[in-house]
Amino acid sequence: MSIQLTFLGTSCSTPTSERNLSSMALTFRGNWFLFDTPEGVQQRLMQTGMSYLKLEHIFISHFHGDHTLGLPGLLATMTIHERQTDLHIWGPREIFDKVKQALALGDFFPSFKIIPHEIQEGVLVSHKEYQISAVELNHSCKCYGFIFQAQSKEGEFQRAKALKLKIPMGPLWGKLQKGETIVVSGKKYTPEMVMDYSKAQRGARIAYIMDTFPHTHYIDALKGTDILIHESSFLESEKERAIEVRHSTAKMAGEIAKRAGVKQLILTHFSPRYPNGNEMKKEAQMAFKNVVVAHDLMQMETEERYSTASDKKTREVKRKK
Ligand SMILES: [Zn+2]
Ligand SMILES: [Zn+2]
Repeated sequence: MSIQLTFLGTSCSTPTSERNLSSMALTFRGNWFLFDTPEGVQQRLMQTGMSYLKLEHIFISHFHGDHTLGLPGLLATMTIHERQTDLHIWGPREIFDKVKQALALGDFFPSFKIIPHEIQEGVLVSHKEYQISAVELNHSCKCYGFIFQAQSKEGEFQRAKALKLKIPMGPLWGKLQKGETIVVSGKKYTPEMVMDYSKAQRGARIAYIMDTFPHTHYIDALKGTDILIHESSFLESEKERAIEVRHSTAKMAGEIAKRAGVKQLILTHFSPRYPNGNEMKKEAQMAFKNVVVAHDLMQMETEERYSTASDKKTREVKRKK
């Protein structure tokens, strides 16, 4: 199984003729999640062929217009297509008002239930196969980054061994898989008797970090991340501006990737004044080697779990036009 990351936009502040405003979709086992809803996000989504109906969760990092102005249109289109399933929208505190305003702006009643959630740091969505959590960033307004963590596998349960040992099938098997020792008819069974721990696999960890100036608080939360998607608004020549408006330069993003010990860094959210990403890549690589510069509709794919022995990397997927 793999996880796909689709970059729906890679610009900041305003779109350019090549780049839409920053947004990303993460696809996992038939589900997908949308991070930020800028203007133009609908057309990019149509180019990917992803179904609006399968979208259950939208995560909005903060309410600056370049991350949110597509929300009214997106909700209106879902209504026109008579969506029925609930939609969860996560955002900072003002999310309840913003959803109301989005509906008022389009002058429509949604055909489905919208469930707004105020983001609190920590786990937002918990599922047996994955977790999505939020970490506070360091921007000019309340802004959150998101971390997707696929479930790890402790090892492989050896059914044949359990049957041979005559351990009754059912909840006791589950306990052994969770690492608990059990007792059956006075006899003790330890997990090691039925588990093959050489087959342990670590779940992929992917972080989506938008508008922020570097800060220890979120960098600490990035430890163990495989793929870091980090904003990179400016080059070093505009460092003063980055500090002033609470954004990052490419080099800062590289330094963060290095400090957090991630496997790969993907740069996005570029100021329109830098039409090509080569300089961005060069500056980030002063601190960290494995850098990819995102472009619109770029798709990356990575394994859902990595064998703890190996270090599987991502690859870019060539999309059919
Ligand atoms: Zn932005
Ligand atoms: Zn912003």
